[in-house]
Amino acid sequence: MVVKSLQRLLGVALLLMLLVLAGCGSFHSGPAAKESKKVINKTVEKIATGSKYETEAYVLQSTEPGNAVMVVGGIHGNEPAGAQAAEQLLSLTIEKGTLIIIPKANVLGLQAGKRFVPETTDLNRAYPGNKTGNPAQQITYDIVQLMKKYKISMLVDLHEARTFHRLNPKSLGQSIVFADNDKSAMLALAAVDEINKNIQEAHKKFTFIGSPIKGSTAYYAGNVLKIAAFTVETSVQQSIEERVKQQSNIAKYLISREGVIRP
Ligand SMILES: [Zn+2]
Repeated sequence: MVVKSLQRLLGVALLLMLLVLAGCGSFHSGPAAKESKKVINKTVEKIATGSKYETEAYVLQSTEPGNAVMVVGGIHGNEPAGAQAAEQLLSLTIEKGTLIIIPKANVLGLQAGKRFVPETTDLNRAYPGNKTGNPAQQITYDIVQLMKKYKISMLVDLHEARTFHRLNPKSLGQSIVFADNDKSAMLALAAVDEINKNIQEAHKKFTFIGSPIKGSTAYYAGNVLKIAAFTVETSVQQSIEERVKQQSNIAKYLISREGVIRP
């Protein structure tokens, strides 16, 4: 009887000690405690709503104010690495500001595995778009509205090319095409330096190239909105895993330079 009571007392004492310890924990204000308070707001915006071209833009917002960056994938349906990399970025932890991700800008093209399907035409020549225009113009018009709504300060558009720029200068494969402003040039140079640290073969190393093509996502963002804008191009003559990793690493580096994620 006495033994049982003692055991019960010991049990109660142990429980109390645990409660005190747990209580103490909540008074710590280390980085871990601060992080748990940061609430990320996730919303979904629709592009070309109600049409067969309808696609999602995921908006990840931190409670801490900061810059807004947009990442676009799948503008061209035969360039799957960009769409896959953009999807991977959905799991990023947002440090400050906003990250807008459009993984599948050209849904029908991606389904068909074609640059574009006849009814959509080339999205990357359709900017700034048109609300009542052809499908490519309607999709790009909606993307432009999101750029303006969230006042983005950086645009990263993910693409692929047939070969390697270092072997064939006519190909954009393994390049970062930067918009016509100093910030874009400076960041493209820094991003190329960073990604090339982990690429051994000379022809697979990235190059930075000026001036995105007229009508493209990066051209509109750079020349009209006057913000940092990039077209990232991987060469399809590498494994899909390698291309997705390169796209994702370049995007993450650029997003971190805007302070939206940690380096
Ligand atoms: Zn492309």
